[in-house]
Amino acid sequence: MNAKRAGADGLPLWVREEGVYAATSHEPLKFYRRIGDNPEWREQWYYAHRTEEFAKKMADAGFNHINLALFKGFGLEEEREEIDDLAKRIPVFHKYGIKVRAYIQFGSLMYETFLKEVPEARDWCRRDPHGRIITYRWGNLYWRWRPCHSKPEFLAYLKKCVDRAIEIGVDAIGFDNVKQGSGGDYHDFCYCDTCRSLFRDYLKRSFAAREDLVGISTFDNVEPPSTHHANDVICQAWARFQDGRLRASVREMYEYAKSKKPDVLVNTNGLPAHVAADSTDTATWEGHHWPRIEEDEVVCGVHAYKHGNDRGIIVYSSIVAPDFGEEDLSSPESPKLRVLKLGTACANAFGGHGVFVPAIMSKMRGARFPLEEGPFADACRRYFGFFKRHRELFHPLGPAANIAVYFNWQSWTLDRARVAAAYHLAEQVFLRHHVLFDVLYLRPPEDMRRYDLLVFPEIRCLSDSEIEEIGNFVRAGGAVVSLGETCRYDEYFRERLSPGLAQALDVESEKVKSLAVPKGALEPGGWRKCDGLLKAVRDVLGVRGLPLEVDAPDTVVMDAYRIPESRKSIMSLLNFDPDKKVRDVTLRLSSDKFGIITQAWCASPDSESYELQPLQAKQDSDDLVLTVPEVDIFTLVVAEGDEP
Ligand SMILES: [Zn+2]
Repeated sequence: MNAKRAGADGLPLWVREEGVYAATSHEPLKFYRRIGDNPEWREQWYYAHRTEEFAKKMADAGFNHINLALFKGFGLEEEREEIDDLAKRIPVFHKYGIKVRAYIQFGSLMYETFLKEVPEARDWCRRDPHGRIITYRWGNLYWRWRPCHSKPEFLAYLKKCVDRAIEIGVDAIGFDNVKQGSGGDYHDFCYCDTCRSLFRDYLKRSFAAREDLVGISTFDNVEPPSTHHANDVICQAWARFQDGRLRASVREMYEYAKSKKPDVLVNTNGLPAHVAADSTDTATWEGHHWPRIEEDEVVCGVHAYKHGNDRGIIVYSSIVAPDFGEEDLSSPESPKLRVLKLGTACANAFGGHGVFVPAIMSKMRGARFPLEEGPFADACRRYFGFFKRHRELFHPLGPAANIAVYFNWQSWTLDRARVAAAYHLAEQVFLRHHVLFDVLYLRPPEDMRRYDLLVFPEIRCLSDSEIEEIGNFVRAGGAVVSLGETCRYDEYFRERLSPGLAQALDVESEKVKSLAVPKGALEPGGWRKCDGLLKAVRDVLGVRGLPLEVDAPDTVVMDAYRIPESRKSIMSLLNFDPDKKVRDVTLRLSSDKFGIITQAWCASPDSESYELQPLQAKQDSDDLVLTVPEVDIFTLVVAEGDEP
């Protein structure tokens, strides 16, 4: 069947209208006991946050979503008691407007109990190159096996879990651990007989008449590689095959869940961007990116949000401040509460819209929760309330940036370390200098025409067809900037006769700039050594320039979007300096991009009132200059004007 498109188009109405403010308690009691995290108060604690009183407290604080365990991998029979208990609790959460997500493990089977229910499950497990069963990678969890997604029997079992979740009335399904190694990381790849056989079929389909590439004419005896060599085409094929296998299995589960309940929200945790495109509505990025400046670098998971925007998927970022412990939450001035507020603002400002707070899984002693601390609940209520109040300004959003950072599968997967480092450098330069940018990765090639400039973060592998598309983009007036060694290889990591983007494109040189990664620029704070990137961007953009110039300290980070089918644009200003408020931030908006602005306002969850206040605006030649009087943690600016 053809399920409707995943991502933004598949979202249930409540998500579109409210956004997602989620808390989680996704581990079953059984898991805490087995893993040895079982203090005297564990059972009392576990049931205390499934009561009506707790549901009411969640709603009062502005939460609208809770993630609760359904299948952790012990077995539906072994977990039956807790699932039956969950079934009774769902109506209680619904009474207070809290949607319930069923947590389903995609990547772990606890054989100690699971084999009793399904003895043949020994054949569903991932095998390493020596045929040994692969155990869960994180922590010393010898009692967790990793299942193989190529086994139809395993997916059939997961479908029974989905059936049970939908039968008890959940609103959402969250698949956890939808991940495996990628590119050069083979630790988690499966080498079972099924995967080996499917891989040989894949090689035959993909490289049947390509001795020029792989050097061999038959694949019947090929074994999957166990170590990565980027320029070995069989290694490249193994990484692509593994991605495809994971993608197909997640897509199958997505379609199954939607066929059972069309408006169920499907979330995945751990799914790589290039796999997630058509297999999930929302994605959790468990990057532990609690927002801060560390070693002169802004940390806030912005790359996760930008990748989510690229593929039309809402990204939840887990705001896991080291932990929300009781000693940190007793005062409204607590630094941890600032983290919560800034994290909520980041999720909205960068287009994520999903806020995921471990408000229940806390390290507090006794059967107590952060949510029961007045200042914590106040901070949630204030910040969640602000973004719900202005929801229509944050969803959906269209691009305001005229710069896109370009990625492709082969570079991002096979050459990850270099690309990630160069991207991170470009991201820091742009964030700290208030330059708007998007990510361009999974969209169709014609989407590049929406931008004036493409930036290549060491995209060393480019195919001939990509070069042709990029050449057309430049001939139509676009510009490109390469950071590091872009276009040294083709898509199979074959050295090009004339390496370099400028040579490959064969276009006017003033529209193409290449710069090396400066010495020391990949060290923490190295973005300060990379002014050349900013200069190159300004040089190639020329008179078109940047749509928005901001005069603010480099501890203020911003993003901006156009609201489709409206004459409004929004600009978000986030202050990462915990020690001082920032005053008199000026924004210079070009009429080319934002139109002739007729009205402007600002609002902040840090002020008494949520309402938009008029902003002073001054026309300066073709630009409009707005002055924002103060940014404490977050200030929203709204501008309305004629179409650009
Ligand atoms: Zn396998």
